Amino acid sequence: MALRQTGILDRDLTLDEVLEKFPEFPRLVAIKIDAQRRGVRYSDRALTVFNPQIHQVRGAALFGSRDDQLTPLPESLLLRDGTTLLTDPTPAELNPYVVDYLGDKLVLLDGDKVIEEVEYWPKPSFYDKLTSKGKPMEFVVTARPQRLQIMPSSYCHFWENDNGCKYCDIVNHLKHQRTGLGVHPRLNPQEVGEVVGEALKQPGRYSSITLTAGSDTRGVEPFDEEVNYYIKLLQAIGQYFNTPKFPSQLIATAFNEKQLERLYNETGVMSYTADIEVLNERLFDWICPGKAEWIGYQEWKNRLVRAVGIFGKGNVNTGIVSGVELARPYGFTKEEDALKATLEEAEDLAEKGVSTVYMVWIPRPQSEFHDQHNASLEYYVRLATGLDSIRRKYSLGIDFDDYRRCGNHPDGDLSRIW
Ligand code: SF4
Repeated sequence: MALRQTGILDRDLTLDEVLEKFPEFPRLVAIKIDAQRRGVRYSDRALTVFNPQIHQVRGAALFGSRDDQLTPLPESLLLRDGTTLLTDPTPAELNPYVVDYLGDKLVLLDGDKVIEEVEYWPKPSFYDKLTSKGKPMEFVVTARPQRLQIMPSSYCHFWENDNGCKYCDIVNHLKHQRTGLGVHPRLNPQEVGEVVGEALKQPGRYSSITLTAGSDTRGVEPFDEEVNYYIKLLQAIGQYFNTPKFPSQLIATAFNEKQLERLYNETGVMSYTADIEVLNERLFDWICPGKAEWIGYQEWKNRLVRAVGIFGKGNVNTGIVSGVELARPYGFTKEEDALKATLEEAEDLAEKGVSTVYMVWIPRPQSEFHDQHNASLEYYVRLATGLDSIRRKYSLGIDFDDYRRCGNHPDGDLSRIW
């Protein structure tokens, strides 16, 4: 009854209220969700113990942050049990959590209340090094606490006829980064391989490598250019492994079977993700017009299912930007309806071997949906529980995109707890 817009409560439940209502739900995962949902602000005191020599500074990224700045603040935070938060600096007027330094502890505050201890992400050892072409390695490959992240092209061709996804800011952010940081929009595959080779020298840190970029519609068949580029990149990275396959995930457009077979057979890639973004055809057509124009909702789903035949069960999934299904004016008006519709579609995919993970929607200042709001904490808690239950029901593993590798999907954190 407390879900937003039911008319019974006129405000979202707080963190404590949600935990009281769902006592089985892990507290640290709820905190993770709420920090992603609301964002964080770093106090001056917190920044006195932020040391760029040992902590990771935010840098190159596909998407912009809620403060729309490139200032060298902490990349993000970890909780006591190693749970990764992906949260970004957020203006005070949006009511973020505050990261403060109290006594001798770095903590997350909600108003005056200490919620939890936090730590900054540790800095990767390759971040200070230069490639053989003289480029800072941190602009070629970035890192999460346990995974290497390669964003080879920060451009999406869906933007060319104004058909970019409405929550996305990729091309606007690219312009910002290019002038602010000197980040190149397209990476050289050999240089990427070189940085991966250097990064892997750090013992014990990385458990996988992920590649993701904007969609590229060009080619004899649409998206052939995107596929060719990923093949070159994955082959360059593969030179640094002595096995044909290496722990890796490609997050890309929904490719056709021929393209998927080429990717699987010609490279060491082990898992595949094609983000459908919103699990409802009507809303997909409105929110993701480029994906709808070039592929279509049903075909996107069909391609995911066909990918299971190539990559194997437990190695294919799709991501949703959870909360956009409630965007105004055409989204669901009740969270209860959005939740039901999303979980039904996720189950339909799971029956066919495709799992669904969610990211908390961040209304980014340079996106079309910049002035909207994401969903309530209760919504995200129930969605995480629902997606985790569906995966268990259909025995779908999520190892390649879980709390350790990715860290951006609260439902994935549940795979190690329940
Ligand atoms: S496909 Fe959509 S979300 Fe992905 S980069 Fe392009 S516009 Fe952004």
